[in-house]
Amino acid sequence: MHAIPQLEAGIRLVGFDADDALWRSEDYFAAAQAEFERIVGAYVELDDARARQRLLAIERGNLALFGYGVKGMALSMIEAAVEITAQRIAAADLHRIVAIAKDMLRHPVEVLPGVRAAVEAVAADHDIVLITKGDLFHQEAKVRQSGLADLFGRIEIVSEKDAATYQRVLDEFGLPPARFCMVGNSLRSDIAPVLRLGAWAVHVPYHLTWEHEREADIAPAMRARMREVEDLHALPGAIRELDARAAAAGPDAPRAGNGYV
Ligand SMILES: [Mg+2]
Repeated sequence: MHAIPQLEAGIRLVGFDADDALWRSEDYFAAAQAEFERIVGAYVELDDARARQRLLAIERGNLALFGYGVKGMALSMIEAAVEITAQRIAAADLHRIVAIAKDMLRHPVEVLPGVRAAVEAVAADHDIVLITKGDLFHQEAKVRQSGLADLFGRIEIVSEKDAATYQRVLDEFGLPPARFCMVGNSLRSDIAPVLRLGAWAVHVPYHLTWEHEREADIAPAMRARMREVEDLHALPGAIRELDARAAAAGPDAPRAGNGYV
């Protein structure tokens, strides 16, 4: 990997999240959840059985084993269906759960409106990298189908988006966090960890967010280095604004004792 020459201050590298930032994803997971509840609801009263909470608990408990993505979701749904129905679920209904996962994996990629223009506008002034987590096979297929792969100098498919992962990516670029900005919909995965490192962030909320991704601890002082935009049309302006602030602050500013890190 080439190190990026550091000739000036300001944001040099912009990272883009993919799921629910560049293309739809959570919509399909929400539909899968609804289908799961229709299947299990034939056996138990969903609220009484706390079906939703039990599935979420099983999914979260399995993340460390299965990682993120559709296949892990399907295995967790099968496990939850067996538990919630006290092992009464029919094989035919387990087969329907497998079919949900196959339909999701085959679903065509739906790129969100304005994405290509926004990414091109940012790429005119910055190096850009795609940083997405989840199942490698499925993410690679989505990147390929999205028609956006040519825009990105580099694509990182990682198993978890935490501060250590972002630090590793930045180390490979030879870039300090103060010169990096991440764009994404998840406060937990795209925003909080990079702010913690001393980087910048643009939050683009999606209309749906998995409960697991909503939890994030962002100190008030760190919010000075983030912007929130309604959609990607406003992204180039938000990056320009943060870039100007980063340039004024200098390359080491967030680590220089202002209490951000
Ligand atoms: Mg996302």
